[in-house]
Amino acid sequence: MECSCGRTHFVDTKGIVLRRGAVDALVDWSRAIGRRQEICVVADRVTVELAGEQVRRLLEKDGNRVRMCIVPNGAGARPHADMDNLALVEASLKGADLAVAVGAGTINDLAKLASFQRGIPYIIVATAPSMNGYTSAIAAITRAGVKRTVECRQPFAVIADLDILCSAPRHLVAAGLGDLESKPTSTADFRLSGILRGTYYCKVPEEVVFAAEARAADAAEGLAHGDHASIAALSEALLLSGISMKLAGSSSPASGGEHLISHYWDMTAKDEGRVEGWHGAQVGVATIVTSALYERLRYVDPGEIDVDGLVAARLGEADLRDGIARRHGSHGEQVAAEFLSKHLQEREYRAEIEYLKSRWEDMWEGLSDVLRPAARVRGILDVAGAPVNVRDLGLTADHLRRGYLAARDIRGRFTVLDLAADLCMLESSSEEVLASSGCL
Ligand SMILES: [Zn+2]
Ligand SMILES: [Zn+2]
Repeated sequence: MECSCGRTHFVDTKGIVLRRGAVDALVDWSRAIGRRQEICVVADRVTVELAGEQVRRLLEKDGNRVRMCIVPNGAGARPHADMDNLALVEASLKGADLAVAVGAGTINDLAKLASFQRGIPYIIVATAPSMNGYTSAIAAITRAGVKRTVECRQPFAVIADLDILCSAPRHLVAAGLGDLESKPTSTADFRLSGILRGTYYCKVPEEVVFAAEARAADAAEGLAHGDHASIAALSEALLLSGISMKLAGSSSPASGGEHLISHYWDMTAKDEGRVEGWHGAQVGVATIVTSALYERLRYVDPGEIDVDGLVAARLGEADLRDGIARRHGSHGEQVAAEFLSKHLQEREYRAEIEYLKSRWEDMWEGLSDVLRPAARVRGILDVAGAPVNVRDLGLTADHLRRGYLAARDIRGRFTVLDLAADLCMLESSSEEVLASSGCL
């Protein structure tokens, strides 16, 4: 049925099993695809021990021929979703009827994309509630040093066994909470972009995950000691968050300015000789920052917005390109092309500022039910033992300052960082916002 947004919302995933002992349901879901199949189980060195061998035995016992594909570790003694590993998984899937992935972010991304390219279904056996990608129809992959999001297909089924998820390392659970806690700012950015830039917006995707996210935030304390009910609440919300992206047809409802800051840290990691941090851990800290920025902007007096002054002071395209080249070095060209896709012509920019000036209070009214104070976000992450500042992430105050100012360049998506820049406040208020975030 068509939604009022003009889109027909649907999901491709046929089953999600979230409970203790859920791995037993794997056989039924593989039978739903076929009997006596050729199945490739994709895992890494840790997840093969954790559940991969158990999965192999279950599937073999049911009469399937099973082969294993173990993705090797790379930098930081963990596997990465890069082109080499994608080729490896794709080769392993040759001739298989079904891929069963046993893992979290990286293994899920690799198996999702490789099975999509092979045109075969895949089932994911989740090993950690560390991110929201299990149920999404997109995969993140690093190509030539740049991380990209690629459209593919949702899994046929998701097996989320609480006995396995509850044994996940604490830092992965904390990362899952960090990814989920971006919801207030990512949703606000999704709405803002619709209001100010006329991009696609529908309330259905955000409503799918709203209540579950609130339950997970309330359960944050239990995550620090692996409490089953808390891990279940987090897992449920993350699974729904992935579905919300599928319903929206993009990552927009779950990925705003906070994600861009995290992506910036990933993008600069290799050049700086760092290993990329955990996605959700970085996103959680960046969410405290963008929440603090929302709070700062909330107190702007619309009467003080000087439309003519802002239009006159705006940088031209050449100056913008120079700034991007300075901030992004070797990635400059690529970043500029992406950034300029959201750069407004002067007439459009004037119209946007006039809108902000005249409809300022209405706009904030429309965001008030979703935004959360930075102190509250920090409290939720802190009580779960998740990182709450850049030191916890192994980064510096300089990384935060650079990420805060440069992140909006790397994607054509409009976020609160662009709102601040359009009001000529991104740089001028940066020290105040970063200090108030407590993340430096
Ligand atoms: Zn809709
Ligand atoms: Zn995320």
